[in-house]
Amino acid sequence: MRLTHLPLTTLKEVPADAEIISHQLMLRAGLVRRLSSGLFTWMPLGLRVLRKVERIVREEMDRAGALEILMPAVQPAELWQETGRWDVYGDLLLRIRDRHDRDYCFAPTAEEVVTEVARRELRSYRQLPVNYYQINTKFRDEIRPRFGVMRAREFVMKDAYSFHLDQASLEATYDAMAEAYSRIFTRLGLRFRKVDAHGGEIGGSRSQEFHVLAESGEDRIAWCEGDSFAANVEMAPAAPPAIPRPAGTQALTRVPTPGVRSIDDVTAFLKVGASQCLKTLVVEGSDGGLVALLLRGDHELNPLKAERAPGVARPLKLASPERVLAATGAPVGAIGPVNLPLPMVADHSALVLADFVCGANAADAHLTGVNWERDLPLPRAADLRNVETGDPSPGGGGALTIARGIEVGHIFQLGDKYSQSMHAVVLDQDGKERVMTMGCYGIGVSRIVGAAIEQNHDGNGILWPEPMSPFDVILIEINPKKSDPVTAAAGALYKDLQAAGFDVLFDDRDARPGVKFADADLVGIPHRLVVGERGVREGKAEYRHRTSGNEEQVGLTDVLDFLRARRELPRQG
Ligand code: ATP
Ligand code: MG
Repeated sequence: MRLTHLPLTTLKEVPADAEIISHQLMLRAGLVRRLSSGLFTWMPLGLRVLRKVERIVREEMDRAGALEILMPAVQPAELWQETGRWDVYGDLLLRIRDRHDRDYCFAPTAEEVVTEVARRELRSYRQLPVNYYQINTKFRDEIRPRFGVMRAREFVMKDAYSFHLDQASLEATYDAMAEAYSRIFTRLGLRFRKVDAHGGEIGGSRSQEFHVLAESGEDRIAWCEGDSFAANVEMAPAAPPAIPRPAGTQALTRVPTPGVRSIDDVTAFLKVGASQCLKTLVVEGSDGGLVALLLRGDHELNPLKAERAPGVARPLKLASPERVLAATGAPVGAIGPVNLPLPMVADHSALVLADFVCGANAADAHLTGVNWERDLPLPRAADLRNVETGDPSPGGGGALTIARGIEVGHIFQLGDKYSQSMHAVVLDQDGKERVMTMGCYGIGVSRIVGAAIEQNHDGNGILWPEPMSPFDVILIEINPKKSDPVTAAAGALYKDLQAAGFDVLFDDRDARPGVKFADADLVGIPHRLVVGERGVREGKAEYRHRTSGNEEQVGLTDVLDFLRARRELPRQG
């Protein structure tokens, strides 16, 4: 494509409302334009990237035996009422009403609709398993749309749903999808991890997420190189400490700590490490009372683990300051386990502390030199905290590494959650009705574009992995004039490259070379060819790869072979 035919408006300035680099670069490079909160128009360059991602996703889904369909984006409320999700899905669901006053929603996902399709379409076990997928627009009315296309309200998702007679068949398809996903992200040239995940809203049993590794990721994932353990931090178990509790040496002391509230205040004021402190979080209990959760000061509460702890209400809810004061006589920041009139659950690592510091259940005082079984009884123990880098892997293969990830895919074994409530049955070998078992498999197609940029950029712009780049090659003509040898050579090269099957963006604009180079870097096409006056005189073009930065001279007649030899193979692992 000639840039004289593609109105490319790149921006030098960083757009004020774009918090993260991928969003900034997507706006600056003209890939997308914001219409309204969480709504984006995909401009020509951006759409090319999106389509390349879609194509790879589609090829791998087809290869894995999934069947493409296209379901409506507008879904009748009745189906959601059948599964009960009309009431529980909450404000993420965009509800709409038609001229006959009938309720609909804009699809945030499609379990109900696909189950409706399957219960009408599938009659016999002989037709199973079936794995239907689609690539289309979803809408979720996110509380805080942000990060551009990565947490949009309207976005493109690939969602697949499989139907089975039994668990073994579900597992086979689930494994095939996991494999297909790994192939997809490998082919896209992204560094990613597959991790055990929480089923979340959709329900069901086994589930795994695929994360693109990037600093800006909203999730934290933990894995161990020495074994196969990999999990979202929210799901990773923390092993109880292997070392026994040391003996206490200090006397229990009450120290005045005026104005000291948070763990940071305590460590600064008393000059102790946070790991020597014990923090107490008061949450709502399942019986309507309160429960105190005890953790080492430097550890983070894991909400999913906490709501599974004995006596804790689901979903987890911190107790209000008023309730804490009424139940304990002390303000929230001053609570500690000594003589606390509440049921308590302690994280395993809080129970191997000795001579620790904690709140005194009175404002402006703390206790130091506190020891279990001398100053207070041992409470119930549970795993309540997030794992940290260096914690032992539950797989036994060594220490955990923790990094941030962007969730780009999610696969679930749903079981019969939807098929049961919607009575999606087939006849089995004995002619008996059997409720089908389901799996579901999502990929955030549009999120992948942002995630790829988060992982691949430098100070000048995007560094597209070759398979996602809007074009294979950018061809820059220096100082084009109507009839001169440079224009002739660049035009001929453009035709040759296209004829050889390369997608070429031809910068034939009447613009300064500096502007063209800056735009080329910003847009991030991997291979750059420059045709200028001196080069043409010598029969040469100048080549540079976007990531290496080194310039090389290539004979104009050798360019095709030169580029063919430099095409990237998909990155491994
Ligand atoms: P998240 O935890 O990021 O909100 P989710 O777990 O709710 O996502 P799923 O229901 O698993 O999302 O949807 C499948 C995929 O769709 C996700 O893995 C993600 O890549 C993508 N996705 C979800 N929400 C959005 C969004 N608001 N914008 C863009 N992509 C999204
Ligand atoms: Mg998910």
